[in-house]
This record gives sequence, structure tokens and C-alpha cells, in this order.
Amino acid sequence: MDLADSPEEAEFRARLRAWLAKALATLPPKPSPDDWPARRAYDLGWQRMLYDAGYAGLHWPVDAGGRGASPTRHLIFLEETEKAGAPYVGANFVGLLHAGPTIAAEGTPGQRARWLPPVLRGEEVWCQGFSEPDAGSDLASLRTRAWRDGDAYVVSGSKIWTSHAEVADWCELLVRTDPDAPRHRGITWLALSMDAPGVTVRPLRTLAGSNEFAEVFLDEVRVPVANRVGAENDGWRVTMVTLSFERGTAFVGEVVACRRVLGELAREARADGRWDDPSLRRRLGRLNAEFRALWRLTQWNVSEAETTGGVPGVGGSVFKLRYSHARQELYDTAAEVLGADCLDLGRPWVLDRLSSLSYTIAAGTSQIQRNIVAERVLGLPKGR
Ligand SMILES: Cc1cc2nc3c(=O)[nH]c(=O)nc-3n(C[C@H](O)[C@H](O)[C@H](O)COP(=O)(O)OP(=O)(O)OC[C@H]3O[C@@H](n4cnc5c(N)ncnc54)[C@H](O)[C@@H]3O)c2cc1C
Repeated sequence: MDLADSPEEAEFRARLRAWLAKALATLPPKPSPDDWPARRAYDLGWQRMLYDAGYAGLHWPVDAGGRGASPTRHLIFLEETEKAGAPYVGANFVGLLHAGPTIAAEGTPGQRARWLPPVLRGEEVWCQGFSEPDAGSDLASLRTRAWRDGDAYVVSGSKIWTSHAEVADWCELLVRTDPDAPRHRGITWLALSMDAPGVTVRPLRTLAGSNEFAEVFLDEVRVPVANRVGAENDGWRVTMVTLSFERGTAFVGEVVACRRVLGELAREARADGRWDDPSLRRRLGRLNAEFRALWRLTQWNVSEAETTGGVPGVGGSVFKLRYSHARQELYDTAAEVLGADCLDLGRPWVLDRLSSLSYTIAAGTSQIQRNIVAERVLGLPKGR
């Protein structure tokens, strides 16, 4: 892949920049971080503006409602929106970054037509119902059960750590449809309507004071068989597609944001005299090199995905592993620059520092990514 903009890409970049300058000026003020219904409305409103301007689902295939743009254009879009300070995906992250791409790759034409346009138009929010109290890293041990009853599955069980469940319309849900099969073979991927009778959402509060997570309880919930993505008991394979998107491309936009924060840290350090500290300068320099390398790895992963049917490969685990640790180092450095102010939750970067702790756990812990890299990239023998 050629990393320099072609004349068409430069023109695309300039047009996007001009549109962003106008569009961002019309955005309402950001809602309070704890007001999830208001955040949902804000995030959906921005998504609708992108849709109306022709920037929604840029890199999604045309037959999935997207624009079929090249990976380079998609990355230009991410760079320019972040540089301009535009909102990121917010409450739309599961729909746009992994449920949507999974349905685009694995859904029937009817399923694509039903679920993808509302995600792109900013009308429906998705959440992810994978983890359970006893099934996190070992996801294949999940126990939420589904029985077939005519044209529906009847689902009972519970999910945990379901981000944005409270404001979601749909849930990408993993259920066990064959308890007698080997555990990876008895799982099915369903789209669950969060309004269905029998669904109860109980919010969880994090150490940062946010209630973005919930437990979801399912009591004999009927899910139409037509909402099954992939074949019955083939859900593990579909799940690997979802996780490939989640690890491979879902964090891409954030790398640009981290590079921006790094610049802000350098400016803050210069302003308050900390710049004279050689160890701080060394740290900032190393992080700068690190995020530049992560951006190049992103470009490589995204362009590789394009040559392998659009689904990111195992390079996503390499990226996710290194990115999540680099993000923590970035915000630890921010705390060093802030000094005692790093205890003030109202200061910039302080909440980001707290939430950075979750990055080495979400979407598969670092230990799990290391296992994957060891086995699938380095070809080492499987651990016991
Ligand atoms: C911010 C955030 C958002 C999340 N959002 C969602 C969501 O929307 N939907 C959802 O379904 N889930 C979500 N999760 C849950 C997430 O997927 C799980 O937390 C994660 O998979 C780890 O599972 P666990 O918490 O049960 O930890 P455990 O699996 O119990 O792991 C505990 C520790 O043991 C280690 N460990 C476990 N197995 C191995 C092994 N084989 N080899 C080496 N070490 C091992 C782990 O690395 C970890 O350090 C979210 C988590 C976070 C932090």
C-alpha cells in the first residue's frame, strides 16, 4: 500500500476537512458523561449527520449499505475526524464496529437489509452479550441456554459487562443450543431485541463512577429463528469474525486520538517547565514512536483485511495487545505531567487514565492475546 495521498485522496481529505469545519459548528453541547439517554441521542445525531453527508459506513461494502471506499480513504476519514475534534462512535460502537461488520460478512441479504441501514443512519444502537459470570476469557464455556420452539428460540441465562445495554435496541447474543456437543460446537449467534419480554437490564457502576455496563438477565425470551446469524451451532465461527473486527479495527480511530493527546502533553510540559526533565522527554519521545508504529500497523492490518475478504486477521491481536499497554503508558505519563492534579477527576486525562485500565481486559485480556499471538503468529505449541 502506498502511504502518500494520491491526488484523489488529497481531494477527498480537503473536502472532508471543509465539511467537518461546518458540521462541527452546528453540533449541540456534549451531554453529561453519566446521562446515557442524552449521550445516545447525541451519538445518533452525529451518525445521522455523517450519513446525510455520505460519510457513514465509508468502508462497508456497497451491498451492506456502505460506500465501498478503499481502506486508505477510511483511514483518512478517521484521521481527519479525530484531528477536527469530531465525536467518535460513542454508543454506536458495537453496531458500527463489530455487530454491523459481522452481519455484513455473515448475514443473509434480508438480515443485512433489516439491521445495517438503521446502524448507518443512526437509528438503532447495539450491545454485545458475550461474557457471562463464569465465561469471560474462556468464552466457549458460556451457559446461556436456547431451546428451539417452532419458529423461535427460547433463551434463558445471564450476561455481564454488557456495555451500553441500557440504551441498546439490539444485542449480539451468544447462546448454547447444543449442550451435548463439544463446547465450541454447540454455540449460536443471535440478534436479540432488547425490548423482548423477559429481558431485564441491571446497571453496574465502575470505579470511575460511570454506569456504562450492565448485567442482562434473560428469562424465557423468545428470539425468532430468523434472527440467527450463521447456522445453528456454528456460532463460534461467527464469534471469531466478531472478535476479529473488535480487536482488528475497532480501536483504530483511538490511535489518532492518542497521538493528539501526546502532542497536548508535550505542550503542557513545555508550559509548566517539566520539559527540562530528560526522563519525561525520553518517555514522550518513545510513546510518539510507539503510536506512529501502531498507526503503521493499523494501515497494514486494514489493507491486509481488504485482501482477505474484509475480515481482519490475527494481526488484530498483535495490535490490540500493544495498543492497550501503550494507552496505559500514555495516561500514566499524563498523570506525571499533571502531578497532584491527577487526583482531580475534573481535569482532562484523569478519567481517561482510569478507563485506560480496562483496555487490557476488554475484547480479550492481554494474556489471551499473548496466547493467540504465541500459537497463531509464532507457531508455538498450545499451552495446557
Ligand atoms: C471496558 C470493558 C467493556 C466490556 N464490554 C463488554 C461487552 O459489551 N460485552 C461483553 O460480553 N463483555 C464485555 N466485557 C467483558 C470482557 O470481555 C471480559 O472482561 C474479558 O473477556 C475477561 O473476562 P473476565 O472478566 O471474566 O476475566 P477472567 O476470564 O476471569 O480472567 C481473569 C484473569 O485470568 C487470566 N486468564 C484467564 N484465562 C487465561 C488463560 N487461558 N491464559 C492466561 N491467562 C488467563 C486473564 O488474562 C485475567 O488476567 C468488557 C470488559 C471491559 C473491561
